[in-house]
Amino acid sequence: MQEDAKPTAIVREDELDDVISSRGVNAILRILRMVLRYRSRFAIGVICTVIAANFQLLIPQYLGSAVDHAQGLLASSTTDPESAKAALATTALLLLGAGVLRGVFTMLHNYQGEAIGQSIGYELRLAYFEKLQRMSFAYHDRVHSGDLMARGMLDIEGVRRFVDGAMLRTIVLVILITYGGYYLIATDVVLGLLALSFVPIVIWRAAVSRIWLRRTWRALQERLSLLTRIMEENLGGIRVVRAFAAEDHELKRFDAASDAAIVMSMRRIQIRYSNGAIMTFSYYAAMGLVLWAGGHKIIEGVITVGTLAEFLAFMAILQQPVRQVGMIVNSTARASISGGRVFDVLDMEPAVMDKPDAKPLALRDGVLRFENVSFAYEDAAGKSPTLHDVSFEVRPGKTLGIVGPPGSGKSTIAHLIPRFYDVTTGRISIGGQDIRDVTLDSLREAVGVVQQDTFLFTAPVDSNVAYGDPAANRERIFNATEAAQLHDYIDRLPMGYDTLVGERGVTMSGGQRQRLSIARSVLLSPAVMVFDDSTASIDAATEQRIRAALLDLTKDRATIIISHRLGSLMHADEILFIESGHIVQRGRHEDLLAQAGPYKDLYDIQVAFGDDPDCPPDLPEASSARAAGTQA
Ligand code: ADP
Repeated sequence: MQEDAKPTAIVREDELDDVISSRGVNAILRILRMVLRYRSRFAIGVICTVIAANFQLLIPQYLGSAVDHAQGLLASSTTDPESAKAALATTALLLLGAGVLRGVFTMLHNYQGEAIGQSIGYELRLAYFEKLQRMSFAYHDRVHSGDLMARGMLDIEGVRRFVDGAMLRTIVLVILITYGGYYLIATDVVLGLLALSFVPIVIWRAAVSRIWLRRTWRALQERLSLLTRIMEENLGGIRVVRAFAAEDHELKRFDAASDAAIVMSMRRIQIRYSNGAIMTFSYYAAMGLVLWAGGHKIIEGVITVGTLAEFLAFMAILQQPVRQVGMIVNSTARASISGGRVFDVLDMEPAVMDKPDAKPLALRDGVLRFENVSFAYEDAAGKSPTLHDVSFEVRPGKTLGIVGPPGSGKSTIAHLIPRFYDVTTGRISIGGQDIRDVTLDSLREAVGVVQQDTFLFTAPVDSNVAYGDPAANRERIFNATEAAQLHDYIDRLPMGYDTLVGERGVTMSGGQRQRLSIARSVLLSPAVMVFDDSTASIDAATEQRIRAALLDLTKDRATIIISHRLGSLMHADEILFIESGHIVQRGRHEDLLAQAGPYKDLYDIQVAFGDDPDCPPDLPEASSARAAGTQA
C-alpha cells in the first residue's frame, strides 16, 4: 500500500460497525502465521496444552472414585475395609499425581505461549519503529505522533496478549468441552446435558460482549490517543503554556479528554461485569439442577454419590476456562483491531523511497540544479502550489542566497533537496543526476541541511555533534565545533565534550543549539550545504565568524543560505527573492539594490529599523561588510 493511499492513518469510523471485518480476520490470520514461524516453541506449547487438558480431565474421575471408596468405608458394608482403604489411598495418589502433572504441563504451555508472545511483540515493535523511520515527511505531517505512539505501544501489546493469553487457552477449552462433554453425556445423558447447560449461555454472552467490547475498544483507543496527544503537546510546549498562563485552559482540555476516556472505560466495565454476572448465575443454576436431578438418581440407585461428585467437580473445572471465553473473545477482538492498525502501518510504502534501480549519487561536478520545479503539499488540495516554476543553479564553491517573506516557500526549497518531499513537476539534479534516480542514503550523505530547529538527543555533546557519523574522531568533532564557533562554549561546560545535553542534560540557548546544528552538518562535509535560517538566533558578529570559518570548508561545495536577514546572505553569488513561491527578483546584492523592487524595500526597512546589525546604515559600508565576509 502506498502511504498516500490513505488520507489519514486514523482508521475509518465505519470500521466500528464492521464487526467481523475482513481486515480483522486477516489481522488474526497474519498473527497466527507469525506464531507458526516459532514452530518448535508452538509445537511444544500445543503438546503441553493437550497433556495438561487430559490430566485436568482425569481429576474429576479420580475424585468421583475417591468419594465412592470413602463412602464404602463409611458404610463399612460388605467390602473389605483394608482393600477399600488401599484403593482410596491409590486414588488419592493418582489424584495428587494428576494434579501435579497438570500443573507442570500448564506451566510449560504458559511459558511457551508467553515466550512466543514476547518474541512477536519484539519483532513487531522493531518493524514498526523501522517503518516509522522510513516514512516520508508527508506522512508524518498528516499523522500525529501521539497516535503513532499509541499504536506502537498499546496496539502491539494487544497483539502480544492475544498470542500469550488467548491462543493456547482456546485449545484447552476445546479439549475440555468436547472430550469432557462427551464423557459426561456418555456417563449419564440427563446429568451430562444439565452439567453442560451453562456452557452455551456463557458462550452466547461472550459473543455478545465481543461485539460491544470490540466497538468500545476502538473508541477507547481513539480517546486515549487524544489524551496522549494533549499531554505530548502540553509537555512539548510547556514554556508557551506557562508564558501565557494557560495552565487552567490546558487542564480543562485534558480534563475533558480524560472524561471522555473514562466514560468509555466505564461502559466497558459495565459490559464486562454485567456479562460476568449472567455467566456466574447460569453456572450456579446449572449446578443446582445437577444436584437436584443427581440427588434423585442416587436415591433411585441409578448413579453413585461418586458419580455425582464427578459431575460437580467437572463443572467446577470447566467453569474457569469457559468463563475465559469472554477473555479469549475480548483478546481476539482486540488483537484483530490492534493487529489491523499495526499492519496498516507496516504495509505502507513510503512515498519517497529508492527506485528499484537506484544507484549511489556520483559526485562528479556537484552542481545543484532546480529546473522548472513546482511543488504542492499533499494537504494543500485546492490551494495554489507552494512553489511555481523555480529554476536555479548552484555550482561548487558558489553560494546562493534565498530571501523572502515568511511562508513564501524558502524552507520548502530546502526540504526538496534531500527529498524530504518529491517535486510535483520539474526536476532537481546534482551533478546532472535526477535526485529521484539515486539512492536516498547517498543523496542525504551529499546534502547537509542545517535547520532552524535543532533537536538535541539526550546524549553527550560530542555524540550530538557526531550524530551523522558516530565513528568521527575527536579531531573532526573539534574542527566542526570550531567552525561553528561552539568549541569555546563546550570547553567551558562542566564535563566538556562529555557533558550530557538534551532533555535531561544541560540546556542550551537557541543560538547555541543552532551552532551545534551547524557543527553537526559541517562534520559530514556534504557536497551541498543548505543553511535554512540557521543563524536566526545567532548574533551578527558570531555569524560573521562562522561564515569566515565556513568559507574555507565550503570552498568546493554548493551552498544555499536561506535567511530573512539580508546581512546573512548579501555576500552570495546570486540571491533569489521569493514571494508566494515565485522567484520575483534575482541577481547579486549590488544589482538588486540598484533596482526598485522588494529586495531594495527589504534592505531599506532593515537598515532604517536597524533590524539587522549586519546591514550597515549606508551602502558603501554595506559593500565593505560584504567584502569582509567574502574575503574571510
Ligand atoms: P518559508 O520558509 O518561506 O517561511 P515555507 O516553505 O515553510 O515558507 O512554507 C511555504 C508554505 O507552505 C506556507 O504556506 C506553509 O504554510 C506551507 N507549508 C509548509 N510546510 C508545510 C507542510 N508540511 N504541509 C503543508 N503545508 C506546508
